[in-house]
Amino acid sequence: MLLGAPGSGKGTQAEMITRHFAIAVTSPGTILRRERDLETPLGLEADEISKQGGLVSDEIIVHLIEDWLNLHGRDGFVFDGFPRTVKQAERLSEILQKRKAALDLAIWLEVSEQTVRDRIASRLQCRRCGFTTSLTSAHFAERPVCPYCDGPLIRRNDDDASVLQTRLTEFKAKTEPLLSFYEKGDALHRIDGNRDRESVFADIVALIEERVP
Ligand code: AMP
Repeated sequence: MLLGAPGSGKGTQAEMITRHFAIAVTSPGTILRRERDLETPLGLEADEISKQGGLVSDEIIVHLIEDWLNLHGRDGFVFDGFPRTVKQAERLSEILQKRKAALDLAIWLEVSEQTVRDRIASRLQCRRCGFTTSLTSAHFAERPVCPYCDGPLIRRNDDDASVLQTRLTEFKAKTEPLLSFYEKGDALHRIDGNRDRESVFADIVALIEERVP
């Protein structure tokens, strides 16, 4: 699983892991954005919460993850942005136990607040497949089209500076306690996420090759 603040690079690294290792990824954020685009009641309700920088309820998120695991969770998988609360982590432990599966790695991407602010201020994301890039990349600033699926590259509606402040407060209050939750086992590894995506990925590849059977 990939853990860390908004803008720490979870989505980017998850995508690189999928391409490199062909491991399936699930991200509640991506599922919820898809639901929003389909205008389902769940998608619209979650969008209201996300737009204000809040977290969606643990019950809804755990339900989404369980559904996803029932469909895709036979082999290895990566969680991007799950769990985000201790309650979710506790429920995940129970789910994994039931499935006789183990958590091999909990990767914590450590980033400074400045890195978060810089990245969020310039983040562009593909509306269709979730590919993430930056407005500072001249190529995409000129032609905001996803190189993988031709979808439109857009600014996320929760990447607004004032919403970011709430997201950071939520992160500190609800997600950071996961550090002590996972410190009890031996799955937790911290990686310096302030670097470019390739350097971070090299560390992740080394960890996966060493730790995942
Ligand atoms: P992300 O794409 O991971 O940044 O998620 C976008 C938004 O979806 C978050 O700001 C939350 O509102 C919601 N969300 C995603 N994952 C979770 C989670 N594990 N728990 C609660 N809310 C979540």
